[in-house]
Amino acid sequence: MKKIVLVGTGMVGMSFAYAALNQNLCDEFVLIDLNKKRAMGEAMDLNHGLAFSKSSMKIYAGEYSDCKDADIVVICAGVAQKQGETRPQLLNRNTAVFKSIVTPVCESGFEGIFLVATNPVDIMTRVTAELSGFPKHRVIGSGTTLDSARLRYLLGEYFDINTRSVHGYVMGEHGDSEFVPWSQALLATKPVNDIMLENPEKYQLSDLKKIEEEVRHSAYKIIEAKGATYYGIGMAIVQICRAVLQNENSILTVSCHLNGQYGRYGTFVGVPAIIDRSGVKDLMELSLTGKEMNKLIESCNTLDKYYEGIDLGNDEEKKGKNGKIG
Ligand code: NAD
Repeated sequence: MKKIVLVGTGMVGMSFAYAALNQNLCDEFVLIDLNKKRAMGEAMDLNHGLAFSKSSMKIYAGEYSDCKDADIVVICAGVAQKQGETRPQLLNRNTAVFKSIVTPVCESGFEGIFLVATNPVDIMTRVTAELSGFPKHRVIGSGTTLDSARLRYLLGEYFDINTRSVHGYVMGEHGDSEFVPWSQALLATKPVNDIMLENPEKYQLSDLKKIEEEVRHSAYKIIEAKGATYYGIGMAIVQICRAVLQNENSILTVSCHLNGQYGRYGTFVGVPAIIDRSGVKDLMELSLTGKEMNKLIESCNTLDKYYEGIDLGNDEEKKGKNGKIG
């Protein structure tokens, strides 16, 4: 029996729930929100769609005690990014929200995997790891999975190739310091850099820069146009959950703990990681160029700086069990 508890039944949480129902992700799906009435209404609405779906999922609004035997607790609760607001500005508001969630989840006896989508996601994932005291491989953030999907979509459009045959990652913070390691971008197994060099009349390097910028600013653009982003991230969360529940060993750019990889300790950041039933099984450390490595280090430095500014109410908690920051 596969069970997921969703905390936060707002736009992101419910986009995830709707995609999960349509993709028959699990057997039991529990909805929790500060606004209990809303969670109940959402559960009713989803249940009324069961007759039209292939799923026989048990869906209900529940309590934190329901986390006890859950495989994954997905956290989408928090305050959404406002127009013009940077992700780090959300930090202090969302840290308080997380204290009120992670504590009762742990008190339930939960022994599964935390999956965090709330922004700033890399920092909220690290906050969840420290508040829960869970082994780091059992705390995952959505990281740059959505950004990597946006990159693959835009590259597919540019080269007129199906997105699924485009391979490339966005790495680093899910935010302003994220970057594309172009040395690792491929169409089928051919490096994008080679394709550019072979066709200078058709493709310009400046176009890749524009694509990278567009990926970085996608969220701002969507928020300006419709107030929030939710469908893409909802589907990204389904993919990460499926990788766990089905023990897929899929490689996704989730936000996860660095323990010496890329020369860093402590930071939670979006890097390619192998996801299986245990959570983050291992990291797939890429052979980045010197410039790309510098960008990753800068991004990690940015995240560490924001994390150091948080008041978790316990300095030892903030430093982590090994006392290392950065
Ligand atoms: P929303 O305002 O629609 O929903 C947030 C929900 O959280 C609300 O239902 C609210 O009642 C609930 N909530 C607030 N405090 C709570 C608490 N203490 N306990 C339980 N529930 C609580 O917001 P949204 O648009 O769904 O966005 C949610 C988060 O997801 C935001 O932080 C947003 O920035 C983030 N997000 C992340 C990505 C990504 O790629 N990781 C993409 C889009 C949005």
